[in-house]
Amino acid sequence: MKNIFFDICSIPLFLMIIWICISRKMTKGNVNRLFLAMTVVSLLCAVADLSIEFFVTPLPLSQGKVLAATLLSYFYLVVRNSSIAVLFLFMLSLTHTTELIAKRWTKAAFCMPYLITLLTLIQNIVTDNVFTVTAAAGYARGPMMMVLYAMAAIYGIAGFGYCIICRSYLSGGKWVSLVSMFVLVYLSVAIQYFRPDLLVEMFCTAVGNMMIMLTVMRPEERMDSDVGMLSWSSYQTDLRNILRSGERVQILVIRMLNCREIRTYLGDHKYNQYLAEIAREIRSLNWRHHHRIELYFERPGTIYLIVDAAETGAEDFGARLLEETGERIRQYAEMGVRFEPRVCLIHCPEDLNSASDIISLGHKFQKIDKRKQITFRASEIVHSRTFAIEARMEEILERAIKEARIEMYYQPIYDVHSGCFHSAEALARIDDPEFGIISPSIFIPAAETLGLIVPIGNAVLEQVFRFVSEHDLRALGLSYIELNLSVAQCMQSSLPETLRTLQEKYGVDPGQINLEITETTFENISEVMLENVNELISMGYSFALDDYGIGYSSIQRVNHLPLKLIKIDKSMLDEISSTNGRMILEHTVRMMQSINKQLVVEGAETADEVDVLERMDCDYIQGFYFSKPLPETLFLQFIEAHNGRSTA
Ligand code: C2E
Ligand code: MG
Ligand code: MG
Repeated sequence: MKNIFFDICSIPLFLMIIWICISRKMTKGNVNRLFLAMTVVSLLCAVADLSIEFFVTPLPLSQGKVLAATLLSYFYLVVRNSSIAVLFLFMLSLTHTTELIAKRWTKAAFCMPYLITLLTLIQNIVTDNVFTVTAAAGYARGPMMMVLYAMAAIYGIAGFGYCIICRSYLSGGKWVSLVSMFVLVYLSVAIQYFRPDLLVEMFCTAVGNMMIMLTVMRPEERMDSDVGMLSWSSYQTDLRNILRSGERVQILVIRMLNCREIRTYLGDHKYNQYLAEIAREIRSLNWRHHHRIELYFERPGTIYLIVDAAETGAEDFGARLLEETGERIRQYAEMGVRFEPRVCLIHCPEDLNSASDIISLGHKFQKIDKRKQITFRASEIVHSRTFAIEARMEEILERAIKEARIEMYYQPIYDVHSGCFHSAEALARIDDPEFGIISPSIFIPAAETLGLIVPIGNAVLEQVFRFVSEHDLRALGLSYIELNLSVAQCMQSSLPETLRTLQEKYGVDPGQINLEITETTFENISEVMLENVNELISMGYSFALDDYGIGYSSIQRVNHLPLKLIKIDKSMLDEISSTNGRMILEHTVRMMQSINKQLVVEGAETADEVDVLERMDCDYIQGFYFSKPLPETLFLQFIEAHNGRSTA
């Protein structure tokens, strides 16, 4: 009598794993599918093994039981040997090295042991030399059973060897689990070979699978189950493995431009459902076009698709996505939710071969390539100067701080009523030895995310205070210099102290400095910031709200804040060619003036624009029409020439 209890215990274990896979939506993507296949195949083996035991006892067997046990034994052996081959495929997929069996001959070599298994079983129908089931003796193994063991051993040994070779593809814990899984399975096969009455193979396989589920698959790490896509951390791991293995793939980065707005509008739960629908759309779009894909999601709204390098049609994927979106997305459109994707196509490793560069490009492609289009190609971006700067930003910023390479430029601001230049905005530049002058629109956001904005901001403060102390602004006809503060600077409780120290060091009157803050600063308003603003005002500084008109401008907020000046963003001026755009600007000017705020309109480039603004009677204009931001000496020359006065 065989011990069937191990087999019985393995069944709930396999069912549990399958349930976890399905409930955590771990059914998409190759690795998930292969793991699920491995578990289902093993479950079938365990059920077949148990059923065979049921039919072969007690002896002698009826004809019906002989037939049932024979058929089940064939089924068991066919499926059992395939499960070891699937384990090997799982290993290849996990390490992104499926390319190894992509060629015809490697594919043939991979299939050969399994083909031999099938042929051996087929010839058993007439020879009975693998196994027999007879009424008198029940189930008995024949000498050719060794061939089946040998074929399974080929996959097992190759898989184990491969697991050892691929040590660097997996983190330490995951690798140990995989090796342990192999050891456990071998041990159980050896035990069952020498003690056929102990049916431990399937139980050990179930324990091994559970171990892989908990340590390698880690559903909570691998899947973003709220949206039914693989997680951001899976993207990073898979990307690194793809690059290490040299596999050629195409990556499509789909950034949803308005994701934050949609999330605010729909709420978190509905937003997740919306994303899950988009994922379904993308999958069905791909299936219609026969693509093999993996789908990953990075919050708040970026989807990554990894497809085979050989797949065609990736170039126009963005356009197709918009054209062919189905019913479910249209329902959201009717609710006012607009799907606005920007897609970047990256060929790996041709365009980029470092994971950090690929990740960084995915985050910034539309900031680097400012063209208004849906699909961007990495090949057109990666050779640009901006991309090279972005890729080495941390190094550039650290060098700029260490070697004092931050330079201030000054852009004059024109006073419509006096016809002179009344103030100027200080704008930072980095003068890098390798890349030359670098724009703040590139390095300020990077300094904010890299945590370097405070030292950069301090260098700016130092230079502006020095400039103001060295030149008599009043003699130049200038009332003050505008200085941009970033959110991080405003949040620093030491900000008033920093300014007080500089003020004393350079003997500067605070009335000569106007501090510019942006609307986003007010969105993140904190206790510290309000205290800072109030203290700085009591010290004599004034504040301006920069970039009014982009984002969510609230007139209520403007009214309640102690602002002296409002700076209207260039984007509002860009709209004045349309009647509505012109009306909006005109009414904004009126409204600001009616609540006693002074107004600067930014970005005037043409005489027509200046003319319109003068007729609207706005207070100040800043723009390339008058002058671009200029280095210190050129700025002084410009002001002397135009205001007709000179430095005292
Ligand atoms: P901003 O504070 O809104 O500065 C105005 C920007 O508009 C400047 O860009 C200026 O060169 C540009 N501009 C002015 N007139 C025109 C025009 O007629 N046409 C066009 N196309 N552009 C015009 P810049 O110098 O590249 O600065 C970009 C942004 O970087 C600034 O926007 C500001 O937000 C930030 N920034 C610059 N310097 C600093 C700084 O010292 N500290 C902080 N925290 N941010 C800074
Ligand atoms: Mg500004
Ligand atoms: Mg601005």
